[in-house]
Amino acid sequence: MNEKKKQQYFTKGLLNWYRTSDRPMPWKGEKNPYLIWLSEIILQQTRVEQGLPYYERFKAKYPTVIDLANAPEDELMKLWEGLGYYSRARNLHATAKIIATEYKGIFPKDYKTILSLKGVGPYTAAAIASFAYGLPHAVVDGNVYRVLSRYFGIDLAIDSTIGKKEFTKLAGAVLDVTDPGVYNQAIMDFGATYCTPKAPKCGHCNLKKSCVAFQEKAIAKYPFKSKKLKKRTRYFNFLVVEDAKSQVLIEKRTGKDIWQQLYQFPLIETEVATNEDALKNQDLFKAILKSTGLKSLVPSKPFSQMLSHQKIVAVFWKIKIAKHKNDAKSDRKIIASTDLENYAFPRVIDLFLQDKTLYLDMR
Ligand code: SF4
Repeated sequence: MNEKKKQQYFTKGLLNWYRTSDRPMPWKGEKNPYLIWLSEIILQQTRVEQGLPYYERFKAKYPTVIDLANAPEDELMKLWEGLGYYSRARNLHATAKIIATEYKGIFPKDYKTILSLKGVGPYTAAAIASFAYGLPHAVVDGNVYRVLSRYFGIDLAIDSTIGKKEFTKLAGAVLDVTDPGVYNQAIMDFGATYCTPKAPKCGHCNLKKSCVAFQEKAIAKYPFKSKKLKKRTRYFNFLVVEDAKSQVLIEKRTGKDIWQQLYQFPLIETEVATNEDALKNQDLFKAILKSTGLKSLVPSKPFSQMLSHQKIVAVFWKIKIAKHKNDAKSDRKIIASTDLENYAFPRVIDLFLQDKTLYLDMR
């Protein structure tokens, strides 16, 4: 079979498979670009089962892009809480505001303009353009790399410039231009449910006879990667400073780091896991605890959270004091511990607050 024929065979086989597959999703067949965009942003780096309830909540709370644009930031971040990759929520908000003002509430209709929106990469732009407007743009992501590399036996690294270029070219060549939306949905579903990273369902796959990886018995070999990501471990010490009235200190993360706009307890980051004496020597510790009447200091067990490039190991130091001091220069808030649930926190703090085995009496 020549290359063109093989590509046509792949497209036909994939669409045949899709006709018999059944993967209901609330956004399937959706033509409203705003809702497609919302679902795609929520699903970036998120499993469908995890993203689904968030999509439903956002759709109910902000049925139009104008509603989303007008949402108070803290409310939106609270609704996003637990989904991770919070820059997505910030970009969602920023883009909604731009669509509401610059585009008068009408979602852009051409691929280039969609791609220019903040937080929208080629994958999301192709999904919106093809689902909402039937435009011939192929989605290319990890699922697509895997399916194409296995089926066509491509050993170019998917994290190399040349690899990305070739896969994008091939994805465009196998796209069914008569119905790009259906084709894109088909390859997404096929990668997510059939040609999965581990244990693909090759035995039942209607493409297996012409699939290079299957024929070579080399499925684990594909897709190729040139480098392995090394995760950095960071040690976070959160100061949970509680006074006699059960009030605690929180602050908003505003720096150029992870978790922007989320709340946290005052944080001391250290190079390695630290102990009580070393912690007490930190400037921030001294500044916060000065003349508050420190009564006790007890560390929690370590909690961890994996991010794409880093691992966070967090210890929560429960610090009992007599009274918080009023510091007009500080942006920190003093709030009742029963109000903590009204703020959006990173997942690792939520894990701490929800841990029923803790000695803490919060929440
Ligand atoms: S035979 Fe297996 S590896 Fe090949 S396309 Fe089908 S599911 Fe993927």
